[in-house]
Amino acid sequence: MISFEKALSIVMAAERRVGAETVPFTRTLGRVLASDALSDIDMPPFNRSSMDGFAVRKADIHLDLEVIETIPAGKSPQKKIGKGQCSGIMTGAMVPDGADCVVIVEDTVTLPSGMIRISNHVIKENISYRGEDVKKGGIVLRQGRIINPEDIAVLASTGNTSVIVSRMPEVAVISTGSELIEPYATPVGSQVRDSNSYQLIAQIARTGANGRSYGIAEDDEAATLSLVRKAIEENDIVILSGGVSMGDYDFVPSVFKKAGVNIQFDRIAVQPGKPTTFGIHPDALVFGLPGNPVSSFLQFELLVRPLIYKIMGSYWDPIKISLPMKEKYSRRASERMGLIPVVITKDNMVSPVEYHGSAHISAIPFADGIIMIPLGRNTIEKGELVSVRPV
Ligand code: AMP
Ligand code: MG
Repeated sequence: MISFEKALSIVMAAERRVGAETVPFTRTLGRVLASDALSDIDMPPFNRSSMDGFAVRKADIHLDLEVIETIPAGKSPQKKIGKGQCSGIMTGAMVPDGADCVVIVEDTVTLPSGMIRISNHVIKENISYRGEDVKKGGIVLRQGRIINPEDIAVLASTGNTSVIVSRMPEVAVISTGSELIEPYATPVGSQVRDSNSYQLIAQIARTGANGRSYGIAEDDEAATLSLVRKAIEENDIVILSGGVSMGDYDFVPSVFKKAGVNIQFDRIAVQPGKPTTFGIHPDALVFGLPGNPVSSFLQFELLVRPLIYKIMGSYWDPIKISLPMKEKYSRRASERMGLIPVVITKDNMVSPVEYHGSAHISAIPFADGIIMIPLGRNTIEKGELVSVRPV
């Protein structure tokens, strides 16, 4: 049995990398940039007024000013500002030559003659200068960036309408267990609905990879082996759930070996998730996750998700929030790191949710995140700072 940190470092040391493809910028949400995105223009592209008001010369603010034109956004100024002159200007419009500041409309009075008098002589420039945000040819988004909605605005405004992103990794999901039935059916006797396949496919989708279910494998070594072989051939990553414990029907480790997988570890000192297995095949990286849905969920989040980002050329390390415990927490055994689902209370403290163990998936939607209790520790004191990792 190895520590969780060791397991993660073994997984992350796997040298794999998917290729790249070009996609329209409108299709890049959640994808990973495979090369730096550069701007094809200066931003702003011209000296731009950031307010509605009058473009004037600072030297003239004590004079009554003649209005020589009005400049809306999208129209170029026609006239240069000379001594004693100003132009009306709208937010986003180009500042005319000669002017060096924009006086906001609220700080001016229009005289009966039509001239403008400035009533507040504490002047702000209110000009965004050409290229002050981004220079033409400058990097706006770095390789490895996971694209968010605001990044799509950056791509749009800098002319990056075709974007080079990493190919979506192909990830296979196989559920094992003769007790499993489809969610559409009602369980009879000891049957169990397959929830892991659907959970894993959704977790894979959230990383920007392509998940594909290979269905349910009965607890039969030959049947499981042929599915695993096919999945390894067709995918970058293969994830099995179930069949990794020590039971008589837990064939997964021997199936992996027969399929040519070089097993890197098969026990982690973590609860839940102890029998989590990871192996390397020349054609795919292979995980055997425990069958209980909470174990499968958490081990995917902790081990598989960072690997998927890595093979897409990115780096993902979720933000952790340090907050005090609302109450004391104790556990009996401490030979494994504990993963405890918790809520963040309204008064910004951490409290465990009601949780009956790794089959209790319906507890997880009530949790804001998990805390990790280090190996060897049985208690966390009330008020002690803990690190919450959102799930
Ligand atoms: P196993 O790891 O195969 O020993 O399974 C541990 C527990 O998880 C058993 O109660 C299984 O019925 C349950 N289980 C296994 N696979 C799934 C699945 N795909 N969906 C929901 N529960 C599962
Ligand atoms: Mg099983």
